Amino acid sequence: MGDFRVTYGEHALVFSVSYRENLAGKLRIHVQPDQRVIVDAPPQTPITDIKQAVLKRARWIRNQLAKLETAHRYALHRQYVSGETHWYLGKRYLLKVRESGRDANIVKLLGRQLVVTIPDRKALFVKQALNDWYRARALQVFERRLAVLCPDLKWVRTMPEWQLRPMKKQWGSCSPKGRLSLNPMLVKAPRQCIDYVVIHELCHMKHHNHSEAYYALLSRQLPDWRERKQRLDNLAERILS
Ligand SMILES: [Zn+2]
Repeated sequence: MGDFRVTYGEHALVFSVSYRENLAGKLRIHVQPDQRVIVDAPPQTPITDIKQAVLKRARWIRNQLAKLETAHRYALHRQYVSGETHWYLGKRYLLKVRESGRDANIVKLLGRQLVVTIPDRKALFVKQALNDWYRARALQVFERRLAVLCPDLKWVRTMPEWQLRPMKKQWGSCSPKGRLSLNPMLVKAPRQCIDYVVIHELCHMKHHNHSEAYYALLSRQLPDWRERKQRLDNLAERILS
């Protein structure tokens, strides 16, 4: 991989190229959640062809980058006050913070609202109460998805061991012994995206790498995994924090 640039209007677009087999002669352009632009290209594609392809899609790339930038700023400025948007299973809910004399925190979904009732409404406490609630929801939701998905996967004979693990930039992982870790924040994403991550990790129980055999297995099991991944990538900035 190396960095290249093209000029689009007054803007420079910087991108990396990843040369890969098995692209059926096609270039693929991705905008990553960290705002890097990556072009997958068949080996030996001349760089001039790649630059031309990037220029052709420059408008789309700039739109994607702008969306990510907005999401990024939004996530940074979250204040945990009433009126903010928070996510659960791919839906937006309006946060409502209520102060109460009681000692316990209560978090509940009521219609389109996510209601936090708490003795002290300082942002840090509201954040903590919400994160506890997301973890509790994640435990239930992921357990259920594993129970539904595992029986379809021939190489998974018993329910794998799994745990919640907060991660900054990853949704899940699979240890060499086949123990899964899932990011509790994933419960903010739509169920299709959760299933994509779960199946991605379960496929690692058979192939502990991202080899062609791995992707062949994943594609057999979940033919539309790319769309699901793209959807999750687009949400990442908003739901990882
Ligand atoms: Zn993987």
